[in-house]
Amino acid sequence: MPLFGADRDLLNYRLVIQSAGRHVFGGPPRHKGTTPVGSDVSLHHFLAIDLADLKSPFHYRHGGIRYLPLYYPLAYGSGGAELQYEVVSDDEIRIIELDGAPSNSVDIVPILPRSNADIVALTYEEVRLRLFAQHPTRPEFGSADLRLWERMGGVHAVLFGGRSWSHNGRVSCKNPACSATDGNLEMITVIPSIPIDGNTDFWGDYQDVDFCFGLCSSCRTIVAYNTCD
Ligand SMILES: [Zn+2]
Repeated sequence: MPLFGADRDLLNYRLVIQSAGRHVFGGPPRHKGTTPVGSDVSLHHFLAIDLADLKSPFHYRHGGIRYLPLYYPLAYGSGGAELQYEVVSDDEIRIIELDGAPSNSVDIVPILPRSNADIVALTYEEVRLRLFAQHPTRPEFGSADLRLWERMGGVHAVLFGGRSWSHNGRVSCKNPACSATDGNLEMITVIPSIPIDGNTDFWGDYQDVDFCFGLCSSCRTIVAYNTCD
């Protein structure tokens, strides 16, 4: 099982912000290397997935890296920066590529509000609706589907797996140690500008933006970018 791989289908899971969860959304960075060399502006910590959570689909190898950390450069590149990094250990990441400079014009909090989160399995009806929702020429949701969609989080649903429409499922991995020049991108999750304690103001300029986190399927470099679709 490759690093950060899943031993169950990621499509069947979603993230729920709630106090009981063992995963952590937001809060300060948890790794060395999250402030790029030559800069004093840190990446933003989005999510630390505890790989040892038996309820989650991610595979944990005993003694290996315990947490899958998701970072995004919210204060870089006028809102559209793309980031690639590798996870060296549970204490350190190494930035491989950051394509934007720090931007003073971006309205964003220095640290996202912290909350615990849980990973839960979708019900049969939720998986069916999720797959139906992705179909490009599907009819509008009926009222029962709309209610189910809202229960899953609606526009704020945090779903795992799937595919990256922006990168068409492929990524140009910038890791010099990687042999893939145009490799497959495995989606980890897409995190919309979700509310924390009912509030979304902290997202500033990033209202209605989706943050995408994928893995180079060859070297496990993490690729983070955003879309406004
Ligand atoms: Zn790679």
